[in-house]
Amino acid sequence: KVRVRFAPSPTGPLHIGGVRTALFNYLFAKKHGGDFILRIEDTDQNRYVEGAEQYIIDALKWCGMPFDEGVGKEGEYGPYRQSERKDLYKQYADDLIASGNAYYAFDTAETLDFHRKDHEAKGKTFIYNWHNRLKLDNSLALSAEETQAKLDAGSDFVIRFKSPQDETLHLKDIIRGDIKIDTNILDDKVLYKSDGMPTYHLANIVDDHLMKITHVIRGEEWLPSLALHYQLYQAFGWEAPEFAHLPLILKPTGKGKLSKRDGDKLGFPVFPLEWKDPKTNDISRGYKEDGYFPEAMVNFLAFLGWNPGTEQEIFSLEALINAFDLERVNKSGARFDPDKTKWFNHHYMQEQHNDILAEAFKPIVDDKTASDIDLQYISMAVGLIKERATFVSDFWDLSHYFFTAPTTYDQKASKKAFKEETKDILSKVISIVNTIEDFTVENMQTEIKGWITSNEIGFGKVMMPLRLALVGALQGPDVFDIMYMIGKNESIKRIENVIA
Ligand code: GLU
Repeated sequence: KVRVRFAPSPTGPLHIGGVRTALFNYLFAKKHGGDFILRIEDTDQNRYVEGAEQYIIDALKWCGMPFDEGVGKEGEYGPYRQSERKDLYKQYADDLIASGNAYYAFDTAETLDFHRKDHEAKGKTFIYNWHNRLKLDNSLALSAEETQAKLDAGSDFVIRFKSPQDETLHLKDIIRGDIKIDTNILDDKVLYKSDGMPTYHLANIVDDHLMKITHVIRGEEWLPSLALHYQLYQAFGWEAPEFAHLPLILKPTGKGKLSKRDGDKLGFPVFPLEWKDPKTNDISRGYKEDGYFPEAMVNFLAFLGWNPGTEQEIFSLEALINAFDLERVNKSGARFDPDKTKWFNHHYMQEQHNDILAEAFKPIVDDKTASDIDLQYISMAVGLIKERATFVSDFWDLSHYFFTAPTTYDQKASKKAFKEETKDILSKVISIVNTIEDFTVENMQTEIKGWITSNEIGFGKVMMPLRLALVGALQGPDVFDIMYMIGKNESIKRIENVIA
């Protein structure tokens, strides 16, 4: 059975890159009838940020990607928060020492710093591996007694993986194909620290194994860790899952990795939900609060690195599950296009039920009009203007005339619309309107349009000033729809206002 996990570290809000990783995991799991697991990787206490875990859970929920097992939804393989699994990792580090795949190291930060700087001065990079190992303070340079003595004395230690010398590793990635790595460029990475915490690498591999993960789908930034992870599986004698590293998300210019700063500069969020930094109280914008529909976000995220191989761009989550395939994920970076996100939102706006949009819009209307406007009326207004809107926040500018009479009239349009004969024409319109008992759109059409045609007046001469009188500008849906909405009396009042 396919089992995948999304394994974020609670170090802050999820960037859309993280949400994209979650989405691809979710799609892959659901496509194959598998499980989607949320594991919180919180072993690095220094980077732990208050509220980040809840943010991650809320973000997945908002996107409509429920997990089958995870923090807050215990399953067979829990707990799902690594800090709660802390006691089980040491044993695995010890096993690696026993099998000769790992060793204790006692180097102080100063020693390591010294070697780094020393190498740097010679134009080299310091790699903690077979080449330097014996110059350092570790169990491979010490006798067994010396090592034990340090441990007994309670010295700070780390346990490092012993990466092999002069070997070529053959790694596989579903998206990138075969990758060859020379082990001589690999560091002996730290697996465990004397504070009783595993590092990411050890905890991640142990948990993926214990949680029976079949596919690891994660961002490209983890590709450099793949060699170590492969070797860890080998050292434990475990079967490795399959790996797929998702391409970077690039700036709108296509150059470099997308960052929060790009969003700030160009005016788009990079987080799904608003985030208030617990230390600085700074607020970062979120897609949700900016008025995006989760369907739009899911749809545009899916296209960051994946495409269906057809022209189709609109995909519901269901449709994505059907169409998704890791083989169709690109290696090259995916350019983020903020205009395209709006295009998707505009599309999903049209699919929303007017009543639901009206509920979101009502507080704005009530505030602007300082009254309590009927929801059904707002819903009808929304239905007439939403095809021109991308966000609910666009609604007021597109529909204010349904709620308040214009107080100003667009000057350029006035010049165009108000001619000498306009007064007479509009007076006549008023008298026609007055005769319409049943004030429906059809009746207005019959009476007013009938009068225009039979008198050969020209539509523009009537409809332009009429629209201007009702709206204040030459915009909006059909004039008769507007008149029907605001009603007979209000229509007459607004026309009178411009001819008075
Ligand atoms: N905790 C890692 C992260 O924050 C997980 C990487 C992985 O999926 O292996 O992204």
